[in-house]
Amino acid sequence: MPDTKFVTLSLERPDPSLIADAAAILRAGGLVAFPTETVYGLGADALNEEAVKKVFAAKGRPQENPLIVHIADRSQLIDLADDIPEKGQKLGREFWPGPLTLVVKKTFLVPAAVTGGMETVAIRMPDHPVALALIEEFNGGIVGPSANLSGKPSPTTALHVMDDLNGRIDMVLNSGPVEIGIESTVVDVTVEPPVILRPGGIHKESLEDIIGPVVIASQGELLRRSPGTLHRHYAPRAKVILVPEGDTGLLSRLLGEYRQQGKSVACIVHSREMARVESGSSFKVLPAPIDFYARYLFRTFRELDQTGIDVLLVEEVEESGLGVAVMDRLRKASEGTNEKT
Ligand code: AMP
Ligand code: MG
Repeated sequence: MPDTKFVTLSLERPDPSLIADAAAILRAGGLVAFPTETVYGLGADALNEEAVKKVFAAKGRPQENPLIVHIADRSQLIDLADDIPEKGQKLGREFWPGPLTLVVKKTFLVPAAVTGGMETVAIRMPDHPVALALIEEFNGGIVGPSANLSGKPSPTTALHVMDDLNGRIDMVLNSGPVEIGIESTVVDVTVEPPVILRPGGIHKESLEDIIGPVVIASQGELLRRSPGTLHRHYAPRAKVILVPEGDTGLLSRLLGEYRQQGKSVACIVHSREMARVESGSSFKVLPAPIDFYARYLFRTFRELDQTGIDVLLVEEVEESGLGVAVMDRLRKASEGTNEKT
């Protein structure tokens, strides 16, 4: 594949001729990375099986990990969803466009490659002017998994996309850093009560305000219903170790131990106590309000990784609101990394 074309669009008025170029690439079965409010996505025609297969190849993504289809308009649901239960419709009306993905029954038009062979399809309407302009111009659903190499932290800037996928995709639409920085909440509305398969930008409480009780999927359910969520994910190269909030004693002890072993160690903290333990370039203090913390987390993983660290000590966050999604990503990043030290 030739070099990846990199273009910049303004949020206020995305250049229609660039959007038209990008849509033409999608129509021809090519791959275009685009910004959303959550993270950058890797776009391809959702109803073109060959194009969808290229997405898996470019990312190195396991085939059984299904993709989310992005739409710009409810009328595009007709080709994709066979039936949207009442609760799904209510959630769509309330949170679309926004960081909520609904799992519903798929139509025969949606290729098995999109859904990992399942009879359901995940759909969302992103809240981003460039994403919406692209999907509108293309005039159909586009798949949009995070535009990173599989397993790596999701890209929150277009440069992260280039770091991972330059030369592997046709085009990147750049419109600066994303707003949320954590992926969408995935809710399966084909079951009663609806099940959260992945926590994300919309919290459980906000969903319950609209449709009553929802449950969080157990490990067993995830294995059956959303295979992709179980892979090691969102992870820097370094071994990630989580440290309870404010536990300065443990943080200092781990820092000392790993350094004594000759390891290069970095830390990501947010509380005032932890920020006092040390300072320096390998000691990142992220803003404590959880929406800012989420926005900078994946970017900080990437920055620290580039410095070639062996171990990353990360202070945990309070598990409420967006903190539930942040802790989910931190745990996934810290799983199965022992061989990396
Ligand atoms: P990503 O595209 O990397 O943001 O990941 C998409 C997420 O949505 C993965 O965790 C998938 O397991 C989940 N997902 C996509 N399609 C389905 C589906 N049909 N059923 C259940 N989960 C899905
Ligand atoms: Mg991803």
